[in-house]
Amino acid sequence: MSKPIYVTQPYLPSLEELIPYLETIWNNKILTNCGPFHQQLEKALCKYLGVEHIALFTNATIALITALQALRITGEVITTPYSFVATSHSLLWNGIKPVFVDIDPNTLNLDPKKIEAAITTQTTAIMPVHCYGHPCDVDAIQKIADNYNLKVIYDAAHAFGVQCHCGSILNHGDLSVLSFHATKVFNTFEGGAIVCPDAKTKLRIDQLKNFGFVDETIVVAPGINGKMSEFNAALGLLQLKYVDQALARRKEIDTTYRKCLKNIKGIRCLNDAGEKIANYSFFPILVEADYPISRDDLYNKLKSSGIHPRRYFYPLISEFPMYRGLPSAHSDNLPVATAVAQQVLCLPIYPDLDRAVVHEITCFISTQSMCLQSK
Ligand SMILES: *Cc1c(COP(=O)(O)O)cnc(C)c1O
Repeated sequence: MSKPIYVTQPYLPSLEELIPYLETIWNNKILTNCGPFHQQLEKALCKYLGVEHIALFTNATIALITALQALRITGEVITTPYSFVATSHSLLWNGIKPVFVDIDPNTLNLDPKKIEAAITTQTTAIMPVHCYGHPCDVDAIQKIADNYNLKVIYDAAHAFGVQCHCGSILNHGDLSVLSFHATKVFNTFEGGAIVCPDAKTKLRIDQLKNFGFVDETIVVAPGINGKMSEFNAALGLLQLKYVDQALARRKEIDTTYRKCLKNIKGIRCLNDAGEKIANYSFFPILVEADYPISRDDLYNKLKSSGIHPRRYFYPLISEFPMYRGLPSAHSDNLPVATAVAQQVLCLPIYPDLDRAVVHEITCFISTQSMCLQSK
């Protein structure tokens, strides 16, 4: 293979289509501070995603930090070790102690059966992740939250456009946070958003993301600067026109991978969305003990042949130096996450990925297994 193939590649509309948006910005000279493109994108996303209120942000990490501030979360928050490190970092930036709970072996999301045992008098919230865009068990989590009077903030960075039994997955919990980073299904280069349940909450979040300003002279909270610029909002409006097309392409690739990898011993595909509306943002496989070579050997071999999969999520968040001293970070407390982090490999998936390359990748994985078995 000539050009290296990475795990993801952003989907970009043509430059010609971007020019009119730039002309508008240049003509009206509004660059930020919740200008017309910012307002348009909020409306368009509410409609597309099937939610009532959205507050756009400069990125999802600032949005997570602000979501915790908005709900005045303190003390301890129950969360998953199996995620991108920003999930837990948002807790540390608020002086909150993360409490790691193990994941479910099938969904790789926070295991609701294990949450209750981790609740203490200090616990104020749960921060689950819809990992790879696969919906958490939102009903079970809400039931626990209601019983113990806890807030629920979903890190929905992977869950753009994902639906569950009752519409958008983003309508669950107290708040959900989206990421529009370049590597995500829908991107604004950098960007993010908080899905809010009501206008009052959105107003508070809009104040917090703008230094706490209510009007020219009144500041009601020690807010931050989390605003999305007009340029990023324009990119979002442009990308939104193509997102259905991009999702359809991802779905095709997902189907091909599943078909071609189905009968390979020791390779397990995850999270078949079935009839549910998924976003195919990742294609994780688990390289299990009965595959002839280890996950890391497969990873290195693929890399030497120009394919660059990623070991999301390895290492676990709980293994990083700022977390590993926590009692809940011990691997004995997290057996499923610890095992999965050693087995997972996310294969390339993005709208422009060539069909032939998908076949080459699956052939490569299946011949590794044949070569070694016949020895
Ligand atoms: C990408 C990601 C984030 C951070 O998003 P940014 O927009 O880059 O700040 C947070 N959580 C998860 C699970 C992510 O995948």
